[in-house]
Amino acid sequence: MVDDTRGNLRTSDMHNRPFGQGEIFTDADNNWGNGSTSDRASAGVDAHFSAEQTWDYYLTVHGRTGIKDDGVGALSRVHYRKRYNNAKWSDVCECMTYGDGDGTLFSPLVSLDVAGHEMTHGFDDQGAKFDANGNLVLWWTPEDLKKFNERTNCVVKQFDSYEAEPGLHQKGELVVGESVADLGGLTVAYAAYQKSLQGKPRPKNINGFTPEQRFFLGWAQVWAQNIRPEAARLRNATDPHPLARFRVNGPLSNMPTFAAAYACKEGDPMVRPPDKRCQIW
Ligand SMILES: [Zn+2]
Repeated sequence: MVDDTRGNLRTSDMHNRPFGQGEIFTDADNNWGNGSTSDRASAGVDAHFSAEQTWDYYLTVHGRTGIKDDGVGALSRVHYRKRYNNAKWSDVCECMTYGDGDGTLFSPLVSLDVAGHEMTHGFDDQGAKFDANGNLVLWWTPEDLKKFNERTNCVVKQFDSYEAEPGLHQKGELVVGESVADLGGLTVAYAAYQKSLQGKPRPKNINGFTPEQRFFLGWAQVWAQNIRPEAARLRNATDPHPLARFRVNGPLSNMPTFAAAYACKEGDPMVRPPDKRCQIW
């Protein structure tokens, strides 16, 4: 899988090994995967599609070619390690890495919101520090970085205002990279979802929910979980990811598309006022 129309972005099978570049997927009849984990190319084709959609979003909306705006597509490595329940972006190899999940709770983590989230790390507060060769070089203009910091500061303040329990606030500076990536990933995924509906009959409502409402419900369901207060306190102090309920309410309350989907009005709890609404990309 190599896309020569999008900077040769490519996708490889890691064969469940923890290092190296893996082996680029090939298929003689150009018919990839079977939609299930019984074919290793199924996860590959999802990751590949996600990378293409992310490329297109940043190109059409922001005029960027590739994560580092250098015309080079990223490598996506799938089937990383065994029972690995995560996905990640690396500024060093400029590549995406996807685990297969544990096979029960999680299947391969190759969906579009995951890919959009992880690639957005390529130019968050950390990604900004590494150039296209993975070297620790500040590659942004000072003006761009200043504006970027102003925008991310909005997210810092937003999360500072959330309380894990009364009086115990989230640490905005700690979680800013992850919450910026959540906002970026959701924005990419929503744009790609809308694009996928073009020229087709509109999908029916299900259980009274519109397609747009179900998109946001999908994100909320990822984070439906329980946590003991002790664990929440520990995470609040050490984890760069926001607590689950703030991963949902944080980015969605910044998105006008969410407000439109649920017909929320100015002043509703899930609509941040215009002067506090954060938009990065
Ligand atoms: Zn992340």
